Amino acid sequence: MQRTTTEKRGLDLLRDPHLNKGTAFTREEREELGILGLLPDIVSTPDMQVKRIEAHIDSLPTDLDKYVYLSDLQERNEVIFYRILMANPVKYMPVVYTPTVGLACQTFGRIYRRPKGLFVSARHRGKIAKVLQNWEETDVRFIVVTDGERILGLGDLGAQGMGIPVGKLALYTACAGVPPQYALPIVLDVGTNNEELQKDPFYIGLPQARLTGDEYASFIEEFVCAIEEVFPGACIQWEDFANHNAGEILERYRNRIASFNDDIQGTAATGVAGVIAALRFTNRKLSDQTYLFFGAGSAGIGIADLLSTAMLKDGLTIEEARKRCWLVDSKGLVESSRTDLSDSKKKFAHDFTSIDNLLDAARELKATALIGTSTIPKSFTQDVIEQMAANTERPIIFPYSNPTSKSECSAEEAYTWTNGKVIFASGSPFPPCTVNGKTFVPGQGNNVYIFPAVGLAILAAKPTTIPDKAFSRAARTLAKMVSQEQFDKGLIYPPMADIRESSIVVAIAVTEYFFEAGLATVPKPDDVAEYVRSISWKAEY
Ligand code: NAD
Repeated sequence: MQRTTTEKRGLDLLRDPHLNKGTAFTREEREELGILGLLPDIVSTPDMQVKRIEAHIDSLPTDLDKYVYLSDLQERNEVIFYRILMANPVKYMPVVYTPTVGLACQTFGRIYRRPKGLFVSARHRGKIAKVLQNWEETDVRFIVVTDGERILGLGDLGAQGMGIPVGKLALYTACAGVPPQYALPIVLDVGTNNEELQKDPFYIGLPQARLTGDEYASFIEEFVCAIEEVFPGACIQWEDFANHNAGEILERYRNRIASFNDDIQGTAATGVAGVIAALRFTNRKLSDQTYLFFGAGSAGIGIADLLSTAMLKDGLTIEEARKRCWLVDSKGLVESSRTDLSDSKKKFAHDFTSIDNLLDAARELKATALIGTSTIPKSFTQDVIEQMAANTERPIIFPYSNPTSKSECSAEEAYTWTNGKVIFASGSPFPPCTVNGKTFVPGQGNNVYIFPAVGLAILAAKPTTIPDKAFSRAARTLAKMVSQEQFDKGLIYPPMADIRESSIVVAIAVTEYFFEAGLATVPKPDDVAEYVRSISWKAEY
């Protein structure tokens, strides 16, 4: 999977981030490849290059400065960029992805340098296939695409949402070793309803209202047809679409082209893995819990759906399983007397009195697990968290909203207000905290545990479709990877420092699933585990 350096010469070679080795080109290579004199005399090892660059990154004052620097590095020398990320994911993941990527998207118009993906705009209708052909790589296997309408919990950022596909694809490579040359980030610039952006002279996208209705649907249809034509066999990951489009697009295309929505399915698998791990260590069953979701959008309903499916293993029917899950949205508890519910919410609208606030819902339902996907910061107040601790000995509390500024509570609040009893995981990272003399290392329930692994499995097996069962398999595999010692410190996911190995283990399990389910389109290798490991890209020259 490594690339050769023989195709390009001279400055062309140095300007190609896939091929450039910078000062690590040997003296012989410099002679052969026409780059003598284009580099300073020193010949560095990759480790020396990493040390020099890390020292510079450490000297930069803000995370956004570090993001911009790393982004430039990715455009100069891919191997060193990934070497840095892979060596220390705990330090760099929050810089290249959430939370810093949120700020990067908000200021994208000001920090934009060179294109890293394709901007497919409403102006390109009728010629989207031609636009895709402008991408230099022809063997594209992975496309992460957003229309920028729901960027993290930050709302409509239009074309500035490009930071998200770029960041996500970097994690596919850094965490699971999906080779970077197969990746294509795309923004569908269908306008923005963010009035501030429309008026901003530095806004990089179409300063007009979003396409809607049939116009929007036909634009998406043309895009999918163009992908099928230009990059046949490529997998599409739908990313950060608004709730009113996300589910519909997923359902329309998932059986036509290998595709998934990470906000729905990746989040679901992450949430379910966290719950299964938490229950494993407290000897409780999935079906014995009462789950309360605060925020009933793509993420909340995605987790509730996959959790309900997972409860079937305990012998429940799907209706019985759904009755263990309750949703609270912006209008209050989702219950059967409400007349304003979408179909996806109706499945979870059970008979109950109407309740307009989270505290009463947690108390009346005696919730044992509380999952936040609301984007409402600090909505898990002291009262709510104390109520959870009164309902059960070890409450599960997952404030999943990103970035950190949107988190429903901090780790310290959850540990303090439950007297250290909480089983906690958040979407964005929180530092360790000490309560009653015990230090907890809060776990990060981030999709990054799932999507890069699923990506590598898709690369390995080339499945025709990606069913929810692939995500259930990923969740169950991930949940088994936490040790008692790690759980005692507060973790319900493997440590982020081990993300590379945990991603490979999950990828192997999902690849095996694709073969078992008859969905793979490549011959089954004798040793699936060895095969998956062998295709995982390494950051080496
Ligand atoms: P979404 O827009 O589909 O859903 C947000 C939901 O919150 C909506 O249903 C909205 O009605 C609800 N809401 C808004 N105000 C509310 C209020 N006052 N009370 C109760 N509910 C309210 O977005 P989504 O895709 O579901 O994402 C939600 C959040 O979850 C985002 O911050 C996102 O970054 C985060 N998320 C985290 C992860 C992770 O890995 N931890 C994964 C996916 C999403």
